[in-house]
Amino acid sequence: MSATYRDALRAALLYLVLAAVWLQGTGYLLNNFFDESVDQLRWQLINGYVWAALSAGLIFLARVRLCEFLGIGARLRERQADRERLRQAAAVFDCTREGVLVTNREGLIVHVNRAFMEITGYQREEVLGHQPSLFKSGHHPPDFYQAMFATLQAHGEWSGEIWNRRKSGEIYPQWQTIRVIHDDQGRLSHYVAVFSDISAIKDSEHELKHLAHHDPLTDLPNRLLFSDRAEQALTSAQLHKRGCALLMIDLDHFKMINDSLGHNVGDRLLKAVAARLQDLFGPGMTLARLGGDEFAVLAESCPQLVQAAALAQRILDALKEPFAIDRHELFINASIGISLFPSDALSADQLLRNADAALFKAKSSGRNGYALYTEELTAHAQQRVEIAFELRRALEQQELRVYYQPVHDLHSSRLIGVEALVRWQHPQRGLVSPAEFIPIAERTGMIAEIDAWVMRQACSQMCQWQQAGVVLSFVAVNVSSRLFARRELYQQVAQVLHETGLDPAYLELEVTESAVMDDPEVALEQMHRLRELGIRLAIDDFGTGYSSLLRLKRLPVQKLKIDQGFVAGLPSDEDDVAIVRVIIALARSMGMQVHAEGIEQAEQAAFLLDQECDLGQGYWFGRPVPAGEIDWAKAPVIG
Ligand code: C2E
Ligand code: MG
Ligand code: MG
Repeated sequence: MSATYRDALRAALLYLVLAAVWLQGTGYLLNNFFDESVDQLRWQLINGYVWAALSAGLIFLARVRLCEFLGIGARLRERQADRERLRQAAAVFDCTREGVLVTNREGLIVHVNRAFMEITGYQREEVLGHQPSLFKSGHHPPDFYQAMFATLQAHGEWSGEIWNRRKSGEIYPQWQTIRVIHDDQGRLSHYVAVFSDISAIKDSEHELKHLAHHDPLTDLPNRLLFSDRAEQALTSAQLHKRGCALLMIDLDHFKMINDSLGHNVGDRLLKAVAARLQDLFGPGMTLARLGGDEFAVLAESCPQLVQAAALAQRILDALKEPFAIDRHELFINASIGISLFPSDALSADQLLRNADAALFKAKSSGRNGYALYTEELTAHAQQRVEIAFELRRALEQQELRVYYQPVHDLHSSRLIGVEALVRWQHPQRGLVSPAEFIPIAERTGMIAEIDAWVMRQACSQMCQWQQAGVVLSFVAVNVSSRLFARRELYQQVAQVLHETGLDPAYLELEVTESAVMDDPEVALEQMHRLRELGIRLAIDDFGTGYSSLLRLKRLPVQKLKIDQGFVAGLPSDEDDVAIVRVIIALARSMGMQVHAEGIEQAEQAAFLLDQECDLGQGYWFGRPVPAGEIDWAKAPVIG
């Protein structure tokens, strides 16, 4: 027999006994109540109480059993336990440090807890009935939320990092778990989101990352971060076909400072060196402390070794100034090793190793200097850097000179113009050719100053000649391709003309063919602007670039100068003959004058005259000379 049946039987029996006792007790009382004496009556009454108490007890027992049998007791107990559980849940809900937010199935907020209010800054009544999108930070793209709802739909739960906005507007990170709640019928009824504010964790994570990647003394990137940046820079340089340079710097005799003045002073010196170097570099440069007294610089855009060498020189110069630490005035030199990408190495690791080898070289060749990884380059680069420094001095100390080379009319042999050519009167080396210093001036940016100076000199010289009665059709001035693309050129020319008072019709600007064809649209615009000033334009070294005939036709140019390379082979070299003929025919067809340069022999002049070339320039007519040495009467007879 099962327990349920036994219970049922027991309850039924109890009821039967109860009914029998009750019926008998009440019947007995009713029968005897009226015919007994007072004593007997008292006894009866006591008897009655006992019966009543007994039957009440039995009734209670029976009821309990019956309820139990019917399952009411269990349900009551369950309800009570539920109530207890709810009370506990409410306490947890309110006391938990995690924010809790409950929405109904429509996504409207129906409940939030105290932590929610503390974290978000919103009061309960401000958010109830609203959608959680109220807290959106704008930090995540729409597909982030789409993916979140897709996960919720598929798995009923989503956890992850999400950036929300507090009432104050501050954006902060949360770790959030959202769960879908279903009712008894399995229908979606609520969403519950539990989240914690993880900004503190994020901050310490950030701090940890910073500590792992930076040197604690100088706060500069350490070797780990430097290698990482170098790797990234090389990838990008490879992609954009750019050159990079890695410089490794080691302070000379730093140990002596540590030993004699103590580590505290040594540390402060290292910090001061780091700060001074940091001030030297702009964006695109990473300075790191690799350890001890060793620093490294990564220059992300350093196409030429000259630039890397110039950078090394700047570092050495910057360190020359003494450092004031405590009451000490400390002087410190450095040695620098340079390695270049892609010429020396293709990986960051290799670049570091090469720079280290170069550093060793710099140290062993007397310190306080720099060395390139490739030995031959070191001397070459050093020389070029020296020239760059000296050139600045040359400009300041007026060591530059303008020489003038005569240009003759081939038909009449008359001297009709001059080309201004710059020279450098070097105090030790004598007269230095522009071929040696113009390319360096172009790279260092000094070319703008040089060209402006030459133009001013040439224009005022032309005015002086005119005042002295010398009749010349033009003075030609060379303009570097670096300047040609710049808008300032127009202003510069206008200003020089204004200052010197030269009639613009007498000034001719020579621009190389490659400068024009580098960016023909910009060149075209620039040329039209310059023409508006009333000056003449010539294309220099014609034949060496790759002119498009169509483009050439559109240029407002009055003259083509045949490059001396083609003149040199005249009249015997068939190729040169053919090319010169074509250039002359081309210039004629476009209504331009033709000017041949580099004429060294009478036969060359005769051939060019025969081909109807208009103008000639070269050693045969006269070398470039200072203004006072031009032979105005010279008119060599051609042919
Ligand atoms: P360029 O403008 O084509 O100048 C002609 C060059 O040929 C000059 O060299 C001149 O001395 C040289 N030359 C002239 N006749 C003969 C000859 O018969 N035989 C030979 N072998 N050479 C001859 P220079 O003066 O050394 O100038 C070289 C280049 O430097 C110039 O070529 C020009 O591109 C540039 N340059 C000169 N002065 C300036 C300047 O003030 N500014 C700029 N941006 N460039 C300049
Ligand atoms: Mg020229
Ligand atoms: Mg030329």
